[in-house]
Amino acid sequence: MDLERVNALMEEWGEPGYRQRQVYEGVMKGLAGDYEQLTPLPAALRRRLADAEPLRQLETVESQRSDDGTIKLRFTTRDGFPVEAVAMSHRNRRTVCVSSQSGCPLACTFCATGSMGLGRNLAAGEIAEQVTVLAAMLREQGERVSNVVMMGMGEPFLNYDAVLAACRTLNDPAGFGLGARQIAISTAGWVPGIERLAAEPLQVKLALSLHAPNDRLRTELMPITRRFPLAKLIAACRGYRAATRRRIFVEYLMLDRINDSDRLADQLADLLGRDGFHVNLIAYNPTGSDYRASSSTRVAGFAAVLEGRGISASYRRSHGQDIDAACGQLAVKGASELRRKRARDRRRAAHAAALPAVHR
Ligand code: SF4
Repeated sequence: MDLERVNALMEEWGEPGYRQRQVYEGVMKGLAGDYEQLTPLPAALRRRLADAEPLRQLETVESQRSDDGTIKLRFTTRDGFPVEAVAMSHRNRRTVCVSSQSGCPLACTFCATGSMGLGRNLAAGEIAEQVTVLAAMLREQGERVSNVVMMGMGEPFLNYDAVLAACRTLNDPAGFGLGARQIAISTAGWVPGIERLAAEPLQVKLALSLHAPNDRLRTELMPITRRFPLAKLIAACRGYRAATRRRIFVEYLMLDRINDSDRLADQLADLLGRDGFHVNLIAYNPTGSDYRASSSTRVAGFAAVLEGRGISASYRRSHGQDIDAACGQLAVKGASELRRKRARDRRRAAHAAALPAVHR
């Protein structure tokens, strides 16, 4: 929901201030999907709002359910950009993974989203709305969202302000009311974002997609390493740890014969040291690239080296692989093409406006 726009409309119409709170609570707490569900509002106001501004900013264009209970939703923004979000179940937790951008400019070589290019940054309302839409679906089956991770499409720290605003909205006890520690932001290693987050009062968790323990290999997998080499990245993580005392969750995708040897596990242990990090080893999901998943024996061997070096490590199986909802699989073609087309249209419109009337 574009709350600012809805509030501005109600102010313009002379509605009392408490109506704004009623709309906000109805959407964030009551998970209303349309104005008709906002029953504390008079029927005439509901109709007037519905005519002026759709309640939802995202249109759900596809919904898929995996054999393991994972739900994947595909949305489009009002200006046509694709967005995806996923709800996964793990033991008694229901984790919702949302996108912070349509597409992603960082081009990690193992990631389907990275091959799309960047469409555009999402607004805070568009990020939070992915959660409320999935929360409403889960509620129908008697479940609640227990965790939110900013780990879908995009690099969250390239859209820092909107991501943090969405986190605050989701955390607001008067609204969605999810504990800050139940929210995690996952970065590919955008150092200025880690530094900013270290100074935030909001106690959200930080996850780091690392995937390689040396600059040469990491640059191959994640070109962002050229800009922020590991020494700089790990220094920023240590600064974050010193400022917040919070542990950082390191995500490490297990790629067969690429980054899964005992020697690289040792290098990873050297890089991280004993304190402040927990390593999640993640099963790789096929995304049409040449990479393959490491065998379970290799994953166990890698984990054993880390544990032998005093580093806590766990292995995360993938969810929703059969519907392309697992890590690195979120991709809808065309985000960057759409961005280029929008830019072309804007240039043409500006050019046409600049022409004398006779040439138009
Ligand atoms: S892994 Fe994350 S940062 Fe890298 S391209 Fe994919 S979405 Fe972007």
